[in-house]
Amino acid sequence: MRYSEEEFLPFSRPTVSEEAIAEVVACLRSGWITTGPRVKQFEEALKVYTGGGFALALSSATAGLHLALAALRLLPGDEVITSPMTFAATLNTIVIAGGRPVLVDVEPGTYNIDVTKIEAAITPRTRAVVPVHFAGVPVDLDPLYGLAKKHDLRVIEDAAHAIGTEYKGRRIGAFGDTQVFSFHPNKNITTGEGGAVITTDERLAADVALARFHGMDREAWNRFGKQGSAHYEIVAPGFKYNMMDMQAALGLHQLPALDGFIRRRTELAQRYLERLAAWPQWELPGAPSYPHRPAWHLFAPLLNPEAAGMDRERFMAEMKARNIGTAIHYRAAHLYPYYRDRYGYQVGDFPRAETISERIVSLPLFPMMSDADQDRVIAAMADVFAKA
Ligand SMILES: *Cc1c(COP(=O)(O)O)cnc(C)c1O
Repeated sequence: MRYSEEEFLPFSRPTVSEEAIAEVVACLRSGWITTGPRVKQFEEALKVYTGGGFALALSSATAGLHLALAALRLLPGDEVITSPMTFAATLNTIVIAGGRPVLVDVEPGTYNIDVTKIEAAITPRTRAVVPVHFAGVPVDLDPLYGLAKKHDLRVIEDAAHAIGTEYKGRRIGAFGDTQVFSFHPNKNITTGEGGAVITTDERLAADVALARFHGMDREAWNRFGKQGSAHYEIVAPGFKYNMMDMQAALGLHQLPALDGFIRRRTELAQRYLERLAAWPQWELPGAPSYPHRPAWHLFAPLLNPEAAGMDRERFMAEMKARNIGTAIHYRAAHLYPYYRDRYGYQVGDFPRAETISERIVSLPLFPMMSDADQDRVIAAMADVFAKA
């Protein structure tokens, strides 16, 4: 599509086909809206696409991180290593599951956790690592899983940005321990809100399956159907984290479109990289040296405030004044009041993440964006910098 100059061009927008809309309507008309056959079908499709062992659809990735971490049965004082350059849910769910988040600074270029610095952060209390595949660029998983094996750690990958990402020819989800995907509308595919846990661990899968629906045993799922029993047992206190069929109806049409979405995201990202290459105002995202396919969830360069003659907030305001949306992914998580107050984090603790936190801007990137839309973004940036 092409946005007119008078229209606000958002930084992200989901692509929802007419077939997907028809499927949601069919679901509504079927009389079965919540968890049922479409969720089952979506879970099967996720398993096939990712190549994972078990697939569990949920109400969000936050729910998935919570339940996957809860399944580790952390004890008070247990530590979980993660990145400060992530969405707050990554740290929040570690705390909610009873763990202490231990942060390791990121590497330049990819803004992913610096795997070479993880070992120094491991203590006798470390139980797990939660790597975040930032913007859909895979973390260096071979050495990370090597460390996990050596120190007997679990790995819960925050793969919210990484459905469709490949690492050394293997899809995220096809190998390793546990992965958590998000289907929030800004992510590479959407179910409205939604998420999924993919895991090779049968016990973790059983824990998540139970905890996502009140702790009811399995037979409870179709207790209103003809084959179902009216009775159920509660075998653990659970949550209400199930995905609805109405959401899965969308997902069933999003998943087959994903590789096409990634192809278009990649074209647009390449155009940004080429067209902005010589601009002193930007430090462009870098790629790791190992073979990979990034999912291009975000195109998030760093603004150089000296060369730009303005800080990031002013840049974003100027773009908004020109009807163009931008976003921040993310502010360094350790500097939020809760994490400062509870764990004593301070400015200076993770200098790379802090620099990125102050300078990063997500520019518009979504599959429906036309070349002309992107040219408008680039022209607006040229105008903003020319007038600085
Ligand atoms: C979006 C996101 C989440 C949370 O996903 P929801 O589905 O919105 O709960 C977690 N981690 C990262 C890195 C994210 O970008």
